[in-house]
This record gives sequence, structure tokens and C-alpha cells, in this order.
Amino acid sequence: MVYFECSTCGEDLEAPDCLVNDKLACPVCGNEEIVPEPRAQSSLICAKRHLEKTVPYFLKYFGKKKGLKKLNLFIIAADSKNRNSVKVFNVVKQSLGEHFEAMGGTVRPSKVGLEMGQQYDPSIVIVCFAVDSGAPELVRDVLKKALFEFDARWARYGFRLRKYGLFVPSIRRKYKDTITHSFAHGEGLYYQYRLAQDKAKRSPLGLRNYLFSMLEDCPNHFFQEEPRVSTVASEKIKAREGTRNHPIIDLCRASFEERILKNDHSNVEKYFVVNDPMTIATEVPVWVRGDEAGKCREVARIPDDEVLTGHIDLIRNEDDGKISVWDYKPGACYETCAATQVFLYSVMLSIRTRIPLEKFKCGYFDTEYACFFCPSEIRSSL
Ligand SMILES: [Zn+2]
Repeated sequence: MVYFECSTCGEDLEAPDCLVNDKLACPVCGNEEIVPEPRAQSSLICAKRHLEKTVPYFLKYFGKKKGLKKLNLFIIAADSKNRNSVKVFNVVKQSLGEHFEAMGGTVRPSKVGLEMGQQYDPSIVIVCFAVDSGAPELVRDVLKKALFEFDARWARYGFRLRKYGLFVPSIRRKYKDTITHSFAHGEGLYYQYRLAQDKAKRSPLGLRNYLFSMLEDCPNHFFQEEPRVSTVASEKIKAREGTRNHPIIDLCRASFEERILKNDHSNVEKYFVVNDPMTIATEVPVWVRGDEAGKCREVARIPDDEVLTGHIDLIRNEDDGKISVWDYKPGACYETCAATQVFLYSVMLSIRTRIPLEKFKCGYFDTEYACFFCPSEIRSSL
């Protein structure tokens, strides 16, 4: 393997040796990069890509030697000659130090099983931060908040915590087919994220990656404050004429007949994930910063540097290949703001997944009525 950096977006890339001097499209920004000769490759990226191998060493070191019980680790490869790498190290160290009693340890790559025939620059070290805590998500949130603030490229190229280092939580949950996760997004507000893994695997790549990344990479700090779509949505976008005859209405009715959960909203969502072959996820977090929204900024009504957040009730993969975004709205036929709401959700999901808005549909429904439309047509009319 040859390890190198994308010259456009800075993504860490790797390619098999047989592609040296060939062109390779970066999976993040789409730019074509020439795969460099092995001697010109980045050993920092090579080390970053193999951090999993160092976990047993650090678990033993901080567990047995230092006596930490609930081990959360954040392992990074750092290069003292690389300015960005030094900055990342400092951001991580400072943010963890501010919130926890973090311990640190530094070793050479060879000491933690990273040699593998690869010659590392002598300036490269593997650094591991350890936090003793039974609340791994709090530790992960601190890292994410600090790194989102440090590296503004998330707006263009997405965010992955793994790009900076490897987080090893003290507790790892096991999931069967459906992943469920409660997001504490705002005071006393819990959102039940559900992802039907098998069904979701058949989604377009950008959506699939986004949905699967939510547990680790969702910027929970954005969701602690207003504005939210559900509170800012206006009557800006007029509702189309709806219908009383649509499969989603039948499913909604069935969810009440075969009630599984007490709360109407949760009941509908859970019923859809379990019983509807097209529904892949519920209460999906989405966000957009004002300067990302383009023409839709007027509808979102947020300044350039502010982040608007929201949760999509249901996402479905439709028969015609479109992705549909749905909101359950009791009293759907009297709704005046729901069209604006689902329009914004689709715009936000389109931006986050980098899937063109033309591929989306959006709508809202209850047991009697459903209204849906193409968000791209609305955008063209703005
Ligand atoms: Zn790139």
C-alpha cells in the first residue's frame, strides 16, 4: 500500500502499489490524485491508518500498569515536523485536560507493533490519551466539539473523528439488525435514532455513510441550542395539495392498530422501521451552517455562522430510487408549516450526504392524509 494525502481536501488516502503513478479519485472530494511512488508517501498517514494495532498495548499499559478501570482511549499518530499534526495534538490534549483527568503516553511506532516493513520518519510518535470514565459518549463529545471548532473543513468535506485519531470507548454496545441510540439533544429532549442496518445497506453510498457515521460522528454540541427546524419553520413554503390515498397512510393506520409503544410519535416511527421495507431510519439528526445553505438560506432564516439543527422522523428508500424524508404530523391536512419543515430537512440531508436535492422527495402524513413534493422544484422557484 502507498499512503498519501489528497491535495484538495486533505483526506488520508491509500492505494495498492500496482496503482503507483495512476490516477485515483478521492472518495471525499472527487478530485483525481496521482498515486505517489512509495518513497514519496506519507508515513504519518500510514501510522494513522493502522492505529487499531496499537490498542492492545495501550489497554494493557493504562489498565494493568496505571490501574485505570473504565478505559476510554484516544490514540493519535503525531509528527513533530508537521504543523497541522502538532496542532491536532494540542487541541486534543487541551480539550481532554479541561474536562477530565486525562493521562497520556507516547511511544515509538515500532514499540506498538506498527513497523510492518514500513520505515517511519523518526519524528513520528504514537500518543495515547486515557480517561477513566463510564460515560464514553461524554468523552467523545468533548473531542468532537474541539475538533469541529479547530477544523472548519467539515462543512465542505464532512467530519470523521477517526481522521484525527482512534477513539476506543470504555463501553461498546452490540446491535442486532436495528441500531438504536438515544441522542440527548437539548435539555430534557431525547431523540430515538433507529437505523435498520440491512435495509440501509441498500441506500445510495452518501446516505449510507452518513447514517452509519451518526453514532460516532454526530456533532452533538450543535444540538444543545436553538435554532431548530421545528421551531423556526414558517409558512414560507405553501403546502401542495395532498392525498387521502397513499401507502404511507395505510402504514400509519396499521401502526395504531398494532400499537407497540405508548407514545404516538415513537409508535409510528418504530412501526415503520420494523414493518415497512422502505423505511431505513428514524429521528435522524441533520444540521446546516448558514453559509452552506445557498439559495435556501432565506427559508432557513439563519446567519452565515449559525447552525440550524433538526431531526428527520423517517427516511425511506422509494421504489423509484429516490430518498424520501417524512414527518409524522397528526392533523396533517391542517398543517401550514410542515412543508417548510420537510423542505429544510431534505436540503440539510442533501448537503450532509452530498447527494443532489433532485434525488429527494419530502412530505408529511397522518392516518388520513399525506402531502409530498420534490424539494428541488421548490428550490428552483426561490
Ligand atoms: Zn479529496
